[in-house]
Amino acid sequence: MPVRKGVETIDYDVVVVGAGPVGGFLARRMCEGGANVLLLEEHSQIGRPFQCAGLVNPDAMRLAGLEGTVLTPIWGARIHSPSGIPVVIGNEQQVRTWSVCRKLFDEGVVSQGVDAGADLWLSSKPESADIVEDRVHLSVRTPTGIESIRCKLLCGADGAHSWVRRRFRMGRPRELMVGFQVEVTGYKGEEGRLDMYTGSTISPGFFAWAIPSGDTTRIGTWSKPDLMGGDSCEQLLDRLRAEPNWKDRFSGCEEVGRFCGPIPCGLVRKPMSERVVLFGDAAGLCKPTTGGGIGPGFKQVELLVPILL
Ligand SMILES: Cc1cc2nc3c(=O)[nH]c(=O)nc-3n(C[C@H](O)[C@H](O)[C@H](O)COP(=O)(O)OP(=O)(O)OC[C@H]3O[C@@H](n4cnc5c(N)ncnc54)[C@H](O)[C@@H]3O)c2cc1C
Repeated sequence: MPVRKGVETIDYDVVVVGAGPVGGFLARRMCEGGANVLLLEEHSQIGRPFQCAGLVNPDAMRLAGLEGTVLTPIWGARIHSPSGIPVVIGNEQQVRTWSVCRKLFDEGVVSQGVDAGADLWLSSKPESADIVEDRVHLSVRTPTGIESIRCKLLCGADGAHSWVRRRFRMGRPRELMVGFQVEVTGYKGEEGRLDMYTGSTISPGFFAWAIPSGDTTRIGTWSKPDLMGGDSCEQLLDRLRAEPNWKDRFSGCEEVGRFCGPIPCGLVRKPMSERVVLFGDAAGLCKPTTGGGIGPGFKQVELLVPILL
């Protein structure tokens, strides 16, 4: 249990800023190692807003054990060249990745942190943080006012635009890609196989995707602003859907949602500074070949927590 010092300061071993998947998993592992942990989330609910294609790799799924959040097991892919030639891979017996409901997945991971003992404060975020001798002092805005917190370790798991990273001047991810995605019904794909589309007019330097996710399909593209020649992500996605080689697959699609978000790649210069450590997207840990951030973030937690404890 946290210790209140006098009336105004609450002591924790670890404060984790950001209750995304990486923050939730980090809180769980810290609690399992005996630390008392406060998890801060600026939103009023976990898993919203949502900026993800929802693929969780088998290693990360094993660590989370949240198979109940799976919408479609993905065992294969059709990878399309810019001229439309497909390379078809996969074997139904071997699941390569899981397409999950990201809201349920995030809620599940954060609940595991809470079940392990972490305190979760929603609608709460730090307004200031300073290292004073052997503690980090935080001022946290909560729905009921400002709370004064003291901890031994401050963890920034607060995403691509991390407040913790900026507050402690810990550098920037080497690259910042941008991803844009629509969720549709009526896409003509293959159950269990995702489609990858390549070509400089639809996803310069990277690829576009159509990922089966239960009753819907997530269709998206990602690139870097300096490769996009002034085009917007929406224009890239419109071109993907109009491309003669595969436009029939998109003809019956109805959009039920759209999402846009940053994908930070390339570890920041100082992921750890005195009593402050960055995790996941905040540290710039997305996988540069796929944009996946959940697996690398979980791995970072597994590697670092025993040392930090
Ligand atoms: C279009 C797109 C598709 C993607 N597809 C995939 C995919 O299929 N698979 C995959 O693994 N990755 C994917 N990613 C990347 C993935 O979404 C991230 O890597 C992953 O969410 C990182 O988790 P995180 O916990 O580090 O950060 P986040 O998920 O960003 O969580 C950070 C949390 O911190 C909170 N927060 C932020 N600032 C504060 C603050 N000051 N105080 C309190 N709380 C704060 C936020 O509200 C959020 O809840 C995709 C990204 C995009 C943009």
